[in-house]
Amino acid sequence: MRIGVLKEREDNRVALIPDYVKTLKGEGHEILIENDAGVHAFFRDEIYKEAGAEIKKRDEVLKSVDLLITVHPLEKSEILKLPSSSTYISSFVPFATDKHLKDLAEGKVNAFSLDMIPRITIAQSMDVLSSMASIAGYKAVLTAANSLPRYFPMLTTAAGSIPPAKVLILGAGVAGLQAIATSKRLGAVVEAFDTRLAAKEEVESLGAKFVEVEGARDDKAAGGYAVEQTEEYKQKQRELIAEKVAKSDVVITTAQLRGKPAPKLITKEMVDQMKPGAVIIDLASSTGGNCELSKDNETIQYKEITIVGNSELASDVGQHASQLFSKNIQNFFKVVLNDGKLHFDLDNPIIKGSLIVKDGEILFGKEN
Ligand code: NAD
Repeated sequence: MRIGVLKEREDNRVALIPDYVKTLKGEGHEILIENDAGVHAFFRDEIYKEAGAEIKKRDEVLKSVDLLITVHPLEKSEILKLPSSSTYISSFVPFATDKHLKDLAEGKVNAFSLDMIPRITIAQSMDVLSSMASIAGYKAVLTAANSLPRYFPMLTTAAGSIPPAKVLILGAGVAGLQAIATSKRLGAVVEAFDTRLAAKEEVESLGAKFVEVEGARDDKAAGGYAVEQTEEYKQKQRELIAEKVAKSDVVITTAQLRGKPAPKLITKEMVDQMKPGAVIIDLASSTGGNCELSKDNETIQYKEITIVGNSELASDVGQHASQLFSKNIQNFFKVVLNDGKLHFDLDNPIIKGSLIVKDGEILFGKEN
């Protein structure tokens, strides 16, 4: 099988790292790597060559692969260059947009969407959403610490005492929990809030205080994802969050509703009440943002508050993010690529969940 990897357009990550290329080569596959594909993750072309890959121009990879993997989905013009019946793996967010589905169908390819792998125990090692969210949560805290004109830890010095920073995390999923752990390591006092009932215990086990709003809707049937809440609940939530935001030095927001715009948790009025120098890191900016003022891929200064809108902070930890992404792919391949060929067996829940297009036919959203 000819397996291809491209250079990501605006991202430091690369889908396969040289170590795994070596393994695939040993299994008899040919690996085509676009020149400089790994350069921002500090994997030079020579290292890929040593691992057994061939370094090719972008179009040569696109036009000759049996199987292509990218971190971000390609634009239509490039999808249409893929050989028909080839297979393309990326995160196509089909639950949020049908744009890529249409392109893939027109290109008559097969497509696996990594963000559709079911979140079941046996698939945990393939879960790119979790690996990348965890890195983003970590980097969000470091980004905040860098922008904050104050210390994170409590310090007692000869020149006086410094109180610990107060960090508020909104959304305690994978990114939020890592943000809690990282903030705690830096010595901050951390509070966190989530609508999912299961989050309380996880937040407390990391040593943070859970901000509790009574009356959340049960989300047990939502496969681990949050559900939309009632108006009454949202009102209570707004009041409590407003109170907490005003006291925080740093607010990190990670709240997402799968397939829907991110919930607006921080209004302009709330930001107006924040302490001078405070920082907001909005990891949900790509789906509209949790803060009314945040702008995706921008850092803005609103009065005396810094607001960072960035949903791709994992890219800033390019080398380890690539390593984990590549490992997720390696584990996914144990299901979809063994004995040297691809498997499309819809009786397997991992394949059934993630195979969104087969030979140009859109399977996403179809019942059986
Ligand atoms: P996500 O990125 O979809 O959302 C982030 C967090 O925001 C979630 O915890 C969500 O409950 C929260 N949120 C949504 N609306 C909110 C609101 N209005 N206010 C406050 N918080 C709000 O979620 P995620 O990080 O991908 O993880 C979701 C769940 O899935 C977690 O429980 C996680 O542990 C679980 N999970 C399970 C597996 C598995 O394999 N079993 C793998 C990964 C994640």
